[in-house]
Amino acid sequence: MFSVLRNLGWFFRREKKRYTIGLFMLVLVGILELLPPRLLGNAIDRIVRGSITSGALIAYIAGIVGLLAVIYGITYIWMHSLFGGSNLVERLLRSRFMNHLMTMTPSFFERNRTGDLMARATNDIRAVSVTVGFGMLTLVDSTIYFSVVLLAMGVLISWKLTLAAVLPLPLIALAMVVYGKAIHKRYTLAQDAFGDMNDQVLESVSGIRVIRAYVQERLDEKRFGDITDDVYRKNMAVARIDAFFEPTIRFCVGLSYIIGLTYGMYLVFHSEITLGDLVSFNMYLGMIVWPMFAIGELINLMQRGGASLDRIDEVLHTRPDVQDPEDTVEVSSPETIEFKDATFRYPTSAQDNLREIDLTLRRGETLGVVGRTGSGKSTLLKQLLHEYPTGSGTIAVSGVPINRIPLDRLHSWIGYVPQEQILFSKTVRENIQFGKPGASDDTIMEAIATAAFDQDLGTLERGLDTLVGERGVSLSGGQKQRVSLSRAFIAEPDILILDDALSAVDARTEARIVDNIREHRQGKTTLIATHRLSAIEHADQIVVLEDGAIIERGTHEELLKQNGWYREQYDRQQLENNLNN
Ligand code: ATP
Ligand code: MG
Repeated sequence: MFSVLRNLGWFFRREKKRYTIGLFMLVLVGILELLPPRLLGNAIDRIVRGSITSGALIAYIAGIVGLLAVIYGITYIWMHSLFGGSNLVERLLRSRFMNHLMTMTPSFFERNRTGDLMARATNDIRAVSVTVGFGMLTLVDSTIYFSVVLLAMGVLISWKLTLAAVLPLPLIALAMVVYGKAIHKRYTLAQDAFGDMNDQVLESVSGIRVIRAYVQERLDEKRFGDITDDVYRKNMAVARIDAFFEPTIRFCVGLSYIIGLTYGMYLVFHSEITLGDLVSFNMYLGMIVWPMFAIGELINLMQRGGASLDRIDEVLHTRPDVQDPEDTVEVSSPETIEFKDATFRYPTSAQDNLREIDLTLRRGETLGVVGRTGSGKSTLLKQLLHEYPTGSGTIAVSGVPINRIPLDRLHSWIGYVPQEQILFSKTVRENIQFGKPGASDDTIMEAIATAAFDQDLGTLERGLDTLVGERGVSLSGGQKQRVSLSRAFIAEPDILILDDALSAVDARTEARIVDNIREHRQGKTTLIATHRLSAIEHADQIVVLEDGAIIERGTHEELLKQNGWYREQYDRQQLENNLNN
């Protein structure tokens, strides 16, 4: 039941001081709060006996007011420590979560949906933070404070009466155990459903154009209606249990009052306690009402926090499936890239996506990768990024298998322009600086010229300062590609990977970029996957893929002579070009 606190042990240890002070003050306030009722009871007894002087009465009142002032100050301190801790754990957990996501590999994101991850990063972390703040309060109030008040009732007034009044307590305990279990189960389901809903919202919003274009709004509305309905039903299931807490406790509190007062009156009649005692006792009874509710709250909060923390920990405890090896090998610079009998399959794939690839690339060479769509071009290039666990055979850089090279090292050599462009919601300048932090405008302009984006830049109203991405101006597909290219060029990587990175530019721009690449990339390795053969005619080696295997290889001239897929494709593209011109 308290697993959530155990699992947050690292946090409480870290914030030991805060919690020691906070909890000490909380207990202290509990004890101080016991005094005013007792003072009041004494005053009443003295009034009843007629033995009170006006001086004593003023002293009683002053004492009570003074105590209240002290309680005020101490309450501020514990509130501040406890609820401050709740904000802190939220921040810590969230940055942990985010940092962890950064270490995750693509297969993790294929298994977990974005919306659900977002729900965990917001909703669930929030729930844990409430548990840490309010949960700690109820924990102390329902245990320490509760015992202190009971002790006071027993010691200061009557044990007989106190025990009688807490007779209904086991009933509460029993009910809470039963409800607690149900809450945990149902709350987990509700949070899962919320994650699904989040995911649906994300997809609908990002896909809104397609939804509109295909007039699927009604259908999407219905799908969303169904899923919100699901979330609603699952939260109602939680609420149905939630609603039991209060009446159960109220019922028990009521019983306590009835027992306490009737039996108390009986004791007063038999002169076992005084009327003042009964008044004090009654006030103490009032004071244990909250701790009794706190028991309920505590169970409820712990179960919710526990369910949410489980969802968060599930992510935090996932180890990336590609990790740095223990016996890393130092490779100072990438001289050769070598595939030997490399076979690879995506974790979610039912068949091999690369088959027995043999390939050697020396520094300074350019590799062209062509083949039908789905033939494995992107898969081949991405092998060098080591995003997935390697398959059989070896892929080596400078003779060292890539799973012996630290990932950071490997990635520091590579400039990668993926097939799907990603621009961040920042300025053009910042997007390009991603490749080389702090790059000067001159350097940026050079990279832009290499990527043939210079003319387009002139048409953008604010030049390098133009905001692009989701919140900025929409760039055309070809413009996005060239910003991505600039980003890769500016890094001047040892290995440049262009995955169909020229697909959305016209033939003339392509020719210009290819020329620039040839000039700027001399002495450095470049890998280009493309559908347009003109982009790789100059390559030192060209491989043609089919179903993940190399079916033809050679230079442009050699491949033309082979009269295979390459030749056929080349002739067709030549024909098209001639028709277009
Ligand atoms: P295109 O010319 O359309 O870009 P491609 O040659 O780059 O195609 P790949 O993206 O390498 O093709 O895909 C090769 C095969 O691997 C395809 O059958 C595809 O379905 C599969 N595949 C690609 N990515 C994944 C993935 N993340 N998980 C599982 N299978 C994948
Ligand atoms: Mg591809």
